[in-house]
Amino acid sequence: MARIEITIPGASIVPGDILKRLPGVQIVDVEPVDPRYPHSQTMRMADGSYYFADPAQMYVVFRDVPGKSDALTGVVLVVGPCQTEGERADLRAWAYDVCDQMCVSVVVATHDQYNVRDFGAVYVYGRSLADGATTGSYDPYGIVLEAEAWAYGVPVITPQSVRLAAPCDACGQYQTINAVRNGHGEVFCFDCQHSGRCTWCAEDTVTDPFPTPDGWTPFCKPCATTTRRVAKAKRVSRRRVTIAV
Ligand SMILES: [Zn+2]
Ligand SMILES: [Zn+2]
Repeated sequence: MARIEITIPGASIVPGDILKRLPGVQIVDVEPVDPRYPHSQTMRMADGSYYFADPAQMYVVFRDVPGKSDALTGVVLVVGPCQTEGERADLRAWAYDVCDQMCVSVVVATHDQYNVRDFGAVYVYGRSLADGATTGSYDPYGIVLEAEAWAYGVPVITPQSVRLAAPCDACGQYQTINAVRNGHGEVFCFDCQHSGRCTWCAEDTVTDPFPTPDGWTPFCKPCATTTRRVAKAKRVSRRRVTIAV
């Protein structure tokens, strides 16, 4: 369970929320309208006090949302069309979104010699066996890896419909891969659920995809900066050695 901050109208405040400003305690229940205050809704707070919120005004509240499922932990494999330079570039770009939105390290499959059981999940870009279509062409590598994942019980994540894409209610990041709504119909990204961790320092913080030789990994800003600086220093020292020889 993670606690996140969102800005919503007073009418959308639910029991369990905590108002960011006064009174700052858990809201036990919410009555639509108090007859004494026709433009307010009444909230009974956990400390026994009452608070009145205008349904049309915006309020900052904390809300508890479930954390991400265990199926999404570990390095994931992204499969899809990868026969040409252009297809591989597309697949790598989509894998960036998977890393960015799901906060997981991603390997982009460019051949079929991977052991899918080494991965936490297989993400399918484009055509999937789950579509049930028997006509049309599949990528020869992508289909082998996807079929193996189904056979070995590795979670297979197929693309969600474009219609399901939605922005995170807290930070606005568009969720195109796997937008999950809570009981209030709200979508929260993994960063805002505090489910994203930097793979280098393990800090629970906002991360961005950092390029690896075969994909992307979520890094926090300080780790990305340090890694880039070290890599640059290594390149410079290698060059010096070459010149000396
Ligand atoms: Zn967010
Ligand atoms: Zn870090």
